[in-house]
Amino acid sequence: MNFNMSITEQLSKIKSELPEHVSLVAVSKTKPKEDLLEAYNVGQRIFGENKIQEMVEKHQQLPKDIQWHMIGHVQRNKVKYMASFVSLIHGVDNFKLLKEINKEAKKHDRIIDCLFQLKIAQEDSKFGMTEQEIGSIINSDEFSEMTNINVVGLMGMATFTDNQNQIKEEFSLLKSTFNTLMSQKHSNFNPKVLSMGMSGDFELAIECGSTMVRIGSTIFGSRNYTK
Ligand SMILES: *Cc1c(COP(=O)(O)O)cnc(C)c1O
Repeated sequence: MNFNMSITEQLSKIKSELPEHVSLVAVSKTKPKEDLLEAYNVGQRIFGENKIQEMVEKHQQLPKDIQWHMIGHVQRNKVKYMASFVSLIHGVDNFKLLKEINKEAKKHDRIIDCLFQLKIAQEDSKFGMTEQEIGSIINSDEFSEMTNINVVGLMGMATFTDNQNQIKEEFSLLKSTFNTLMSQKHSNFNPKVLSMGMSGDFELAIECGSTMVRIGSTIFGSRNYTK
């Protein structure tokens, strides 16, 4: 990464590299609202956050046409705070969470778009479901009765490693699972989004079929984690 480039420059460089069918989530977690506004002012509208509280605060302070994506692990008891405005929830990794999202969406008379998170990394620390778990959810009667959610695809995170072959295998697994599930379309299951790829691996993710990349540090600079 070139540390001398501004947010505006990094953003336009990345956008020029993305194929037209790939959308960009600007991952702004831990960054101040001035940074988000700089990106907003050159046309960026999709921002990704991984903490609900932080996303709620930024949503209150920033322009209302921003689409807020929750990309982090979601605790069920916090869904209510974002249900009125969240645009896409990437990390749905259990049925109980999906039920909670459906319930809260109903209260706001909304249909909330979600992605199922598939576990592709070998690391234990990464969340996600197996293909079987996802299959049993979408084939259940209870799922078909959830009228306030729309599952629009899958999300996954590769292992944090320099081994390009391993990352490629994990992305390929995600893509092939996505292809399998595509054939199971029904009322509230409409897979079209494949969210994979971050700063370090988005080119590879796109080669492997990604339609949505989540890029943070390459746009906004590295994060100083205090929490
Ligand atoms: C932080 C984060 C990203 C962005 O990571 P960068 O390496 O900074 O691009 C993408 N996806 C998820 C789920 C994240 O938590």
